[in-house]
Amino acid sequence: MSSVDSLRGVVASLMSQARADLAELVAIRSVANHDVEPPEECAKAARWLIDRFTEAGLSEVTAALTPDGSRCVHGVAPGPPGSPTVLLYCHYDVQPPLDENAWVTPVWELTERDGRWYGRGAADCKGNIVAHLTALRALAKHDGGFPCTIKLIAEGSEEQGTGGLEAFVPEHAELLAADAILVADTGNFAVGVPTLTTALRGMTTVDVRLAALSSPMHSGMFGGPAPDPVVGMVQLLASLHDEHGNTTVDGIDATEVWQGVDYPDDAFRADANVLDGVELMGDGTVADLLWARPSATVLGMDIPSVTGSAAAVQAMAAARVSLRLPPGTTARQAQDALVEHLRRRVPWGLRYRIDRVAAGDPFIGSLDGPAFEAMRSAMEDAFKHPMATEGQGGSIPLCTVLADTFPTAEIMLLGVEEPRCLIHAPNESVDPSEIEHLALAEALFLTRYAASGDT
Ligand SMILES: [Zn+2]
Repeated sequence: MSSVDSLRGVVASLMSQARADLAELVAIRSVANHDVEPPEECAKAARWLIDRFTEAGLSEVTAALTPDGSRCVHGVAPGPPGSPTVLLYCHYDVQPPLDENAWVTPVWELTERDGRWYGRGAADCKGNIVAHLTALRALAKHDGGFPCTIKLIAEGSEEQGTGGLEAFVPEHAELLAADAILVADTGNFAVGVPTLTTALRGMTTVDVRLAALSSPMHSGMFGGPAPDPVVGMVQLLASLHDEHGNTTVDGIDATEVWQGVDYPDDAFRADANVLDGVELMGDGTVADLLWARPSATVLGMDIPSVTGSAAAVQAMAAARVSLRLPPGTTARQAQDALVEHLRRRVPWGLRYRIDRVAAGDPFIGSLDGPAFEAMRSAMEDAFKHPMATEGQGGSIPLCTVLADTFPTAEIMLLGVEEPRCLIHAPNESVDPSEIEHLALAEALFLTRYAASGDT
């Protein structure tokens, strides 16, 4: 029997324990918002991780306070001298249930239905915690130990976006330093299709204000020559797209092609709730437009509402514009380009002000290197399917922090959160085969990555 097959057997033998663990973990209501659940729930979850990862072979597993008041759990298992270090990431806080009545099975009770396991956090991210644990247990059982140094970091407030761990990481770089980082908080493109998420879009937001008159004026008596800031704003915003819907910001390339997995139009239309007969925007494929190109969106406008509007030329108008950006440009560069694009197009000498609101850099994960290659072969053997790469339209600020803090580390995003999991929604679930295959992939990866340094 090859080592893949024997390790596969060991992982399979650990799945009933994995299920019991996930049931315990899902029963802990670890929403990191004290208005929703008492703080003892998150403390209980942190304690649970400390106990389980200690049993699994890590030492010095402790919960550390981060600046937002949440606690991250970290620990380490030193590997053989000269072996590489792998940091395993996950988070133990969860989204609130949202509409409890919309849940078919109890929110906080892991329940099997049609082969899937339901419950809040079953996938995001407690399923990933259990996958990490199962991988470590499998190696301990199969090989009697770990082939390299393993570090754990489990975040306690990921779903709140309060940035506790993002602040903790640079201040504790020594504690978390690693050659490869597995961020287990995404998922496969579909069940059984091993997928690394290799690109996350960045984002920048600006507010534009236009002013022309010292007060609104009657549109019958003054409309025509009176400079209209609402019309000016419409012209300005229209310049952000061409007639096909491609984003057109001066100095920002919008022609890139996505090299990874395809995102079929039909699937996207369904996911995005696009109405029948309405076309998608842009000239490229869905994957090009979503993961490889910039995308401008008007988030809000200050102009009179239709209801209650009067026959007047407005004195001023405002809009908030967001620009999502693919890897290849920094958020600051894109923001400069957007501000300059808008500034140059303000018509009729209107007075204007452009405020910079937010900026987050895009992230690109490892696309080659020894860890990436070890992961590819591990994923393909575990899932018996070629590995795909996909992007994600949103951003995960922690990934940028990890990349900045550990510039030489290979960072890979993966996990059990495939689209059917309905993370962040009622009736969240996980496919247990994803936990099993991911745990096997992770165990194989650790073995092969550790061996890749040997000559
Ligand atoms: Zn998550």
